[in-house]
Amino acid sequence: MEAETQVCPVCAMSISSHALRCPHCRARQPNAPPINRGSSKQVAGVCAMIAEELSLDPTLVRVLFVCLVTVSGGLVLGAYILLWLVTPPVPNGLSPVSRFSRWIDGLFSSSSTPPQQPASPS
Ligand SMILES: [Zn+2]
Repeated sequence: MEAETQVCPVCAMSISSHALRCPHCRARQPNAPPINRGSSKQVAGVCAMIAEELSLDPTLVRVLFVCLVTVSGGLVLGAYILLWLVTPPVPNGLSPVSRFSRWIDGLFSSSSTPPQQPASPS
């Protein structure tokens, strides 16, 4: 049985139809789901997302992350939190920043109509 293949739109090489990125030119494929933290998360999914995007082992990325947090004195932890804030938890989902923005919009766009001005007597 032959595996299903697709043609990379960037380098025109034949690649697996399940590939998120072309193994030849590293181009993200059009059928790849949008970047998200959904798969195989342990804490917030940022390390798993980075591992998936870079085609690395999630455990390796997590070990590197812990080492970098220790060495950087928390700077990398700030980058982790920033990445968590701007990436959606599921494909085509809303990031925490987007959800907060929508919540703020909801606060200031009340559903009630503005008070009617009484007609001024002429
Ligand atoms: Zn390619």
